[in-house]
Amino acid sequence: MNSYIGVKENVKVFFYQDRIIIKNIYSDAYFIVGKEVGFILYLISKNKRIDELIENIGYLYDIPVSKAKDILFKTIELLKDYIKISDKEFKRGEILLDFEDLKLCRTFKDLKQKSEYPTEIVLYLTKHCIRNCLYCKEKAVTDNGIEKDNFFLDIDRLEALVNEQRNVTDWVLTGGEPLLHPNIIQISGLIKRRSNAKLSIATKGVPDLQIIKLLCDESLIDCFCFSLDSIQPDTVNYLSGSETTFSDISNCIKLVKDAGIEININTVLTTKNYLQINDIVEFCKTNQIPKINFLVAEEKGRCRDFLLLNNEQILFCKETIKELAIRYHQYTMPVLKVKDKFNNCYNCSNLYNRLIIKYDGSVELCNGKYLGNLDGNTIKNVWDKFAL
Ligand code: SF4
Repeated sequence: MNSYIGVKENVKVFFYQDRIIIKNIYSDAYFIVGKEVGFILYLISKNKRIDELIENIGYLYDIPVSKAKDILFKTIELLKDYIKISDKEFKRGEILLDFEDLKLCRTFKDLKQKSEYPTEIVLYLTKHCIRNCLYCKEKAVTDNGIEKDNFFLDIDRLEALVNEQRNVTDWVLTGGEPLLHPNIIQISGLIKRRSNAKLSIATKGVPDLQIIKLLCDESLIDCFCFSLDSIQPDTVNYLSGSETTFSDISNCIKLVKDAGIEININTVLTTKNYLQINDIVEFCKTNQIPKINFLVAEEKGRCRDFLLLNNEQILFCKETIKELAIRYHQYTMPVLKVKDKFNNCYNCSNLYNRLIIKYDGSVELCNGKYLGNLDGNTIKNVWDKFAL
């Protein structure tokens, strides 16, 4: 009983949206637990020795030591891949939980259902884009301006939508190219004013830096997720069908970095860039960019066949990214997202809490399932209509 306990060195426990996540920071495997197990993890973070931990569980639950022991060992059995017990002190992973998190997170029973209300809302602001990416799955429109009946041109409707939000913790603006939306400043400002949630924008950069400068100066965006497929200008420009993409993205990254705003990188892996993963991760390490999402190009939209990776190449990407995640986890975190045949990402629970609103007001789940339209409807009405 005098042994020591903690999460393994490669493990991080944190509160995200309304749940507690235990994550292997090397492999990106994760496990979601409810309030009950979260509370024991919280106590593990406060008590290194098992005997003291049991005593504390007994005291806080007001139960005898034998029962407290029982609870602890059941938890250890459940989390055996993530917890370490040793006779000696050892280097622990991080448990970043506080008492407020435990109050807010869902119980185990609740976790098995979709959230009552989406916790993440993604706004596809427009189809309009100045690039012509060979792998674009949205079939972005490059020759016209903004859609005439674009849902987000009506600020009153958007305001009603933002006002309706309940426990939304993340808003994401995407497209097309969201920075081209004529109301981008108003939309960002509205979301920032009316909610405490994190606001991110996914962009491939634009030549006119004024708009980004304004968003940064007014602190309207919390995180810029730049789409950067390579650090070689030729590869980026070729894949995006534009001679200026690389310099546009580089200028935008510099501006946002100088403003001290969080940056993430999204990289679409194709046959043209999958051998450059190392360089992209190195770039993120050097520029203190904490997260890189690698996505495998999909057979969708106008993606050309010759760009699609075969199984062997995907396996190579998985191994490379895993190896880099281990090597660089203190600096940056590369993550590979691969979809299954139902269009869901492996190891992902976004289906239960993420809602996508498109430029025409239609609403989808993150696997593309159509749920309805916001014309005359509230988000809650549309969300309630689907059952998993
Ligand atoms: S920048 Fe995005 S929306 Fe525009 S063409 Fe490329 S993938 Fe499509």
